Amino acid sequence: MDWQKLLTQAGFRISKPRKQVMQLLESTQTPQTALAIYQQLRAQGARLSLVSVYRTLELFVSLGLISMVYEPEGSLGYVPASAGHHHYILCQVCHRAVEFAGTEDLAGLIYQVENQTQFLVSDHLLQFFGVCPKCQNKSKESA
Ligand SMILES: [Zn+2]
Ligand SMILES: [Zn+2]
Repeated sequence: MDWQKLLTQAGFRISKPRKQVMQLLESTQTPQTALAIYQQLRAQGARLSLVSVYRTLELFVSLGLISMVYEPEGSLGYVPASAGHHHYILCQVCHRAVEFAGTEDLAGLIYQVENQTQFLVSDHLLQFFGVCPKCQNKSKESA
């Protein structure tokens, strides 16, 4: 995914803070909180405020360029997103976030929820937690 192209197409400038935030997110496999992004960029000498980090993240989320995920302890992190509908699974040991395709496999569950609550389901947020293959191997080695 070319985020710069998508941003320009949506009518937004590729400003320095936007570039810095996206580069940081793309350079890591673990979700980053707004504060962590701010602190790392400041440490690298970037001149931006926490508010502009929040605004940038908000914009990227609204354009579908990044996704919000919940860390095992409940804090909110951000990761780059590929196009289309997808979900995340997070490793509880190394905090790595992996994306997987979300298809119509939830149709049965949504039908059940609608039946039970009489709501019309329009969207959902689904995330799994677990232990990634790398961390599974590590725990085998130490056992
Ligand atoms: Zn792991
Ligand atoms: Zn889904």
